[in-house]
Amino acid sequence: MILLVLAWIGARSLWQRRERLLAWYAQQQAAPDRREGPREQPDAQERAPRRRGEDAAPEEMVECAHCGVFLARREALRGRGGRLYCSDEHRRQGPRA
Ligand SMILES: [Zn+2]
Repeated sequence: MILLVLAWIGARSLWQRRERLLAWYAQQQAAPDRREGPREQPDAQERAPRRRGEDAAPEEMVECAHCGVFLARREALRGRGGRLYCSDEHRRQGPRA
């Protein structure tokens, strides 16, 4: 009888340990990405000077073919014949002769 009790206690403690292990394992599965991942990524992004350098780079200016206003090339609208316009309206009106 005492062997049975000992076996039961042993099995029970093993079971409890197993549950603790499972809980720990689940934490380890979820935690590393959140603990270590974000730490490195923001640093890498903040230190990367490329993006800021591109943003700070002087913008190429182009002239609207209709009204002649200057605007950044990335804001210009491309019309027929590769002409650039400041707005959709001017693109529709076409180049001013
Ligand atoms: Zn214009």
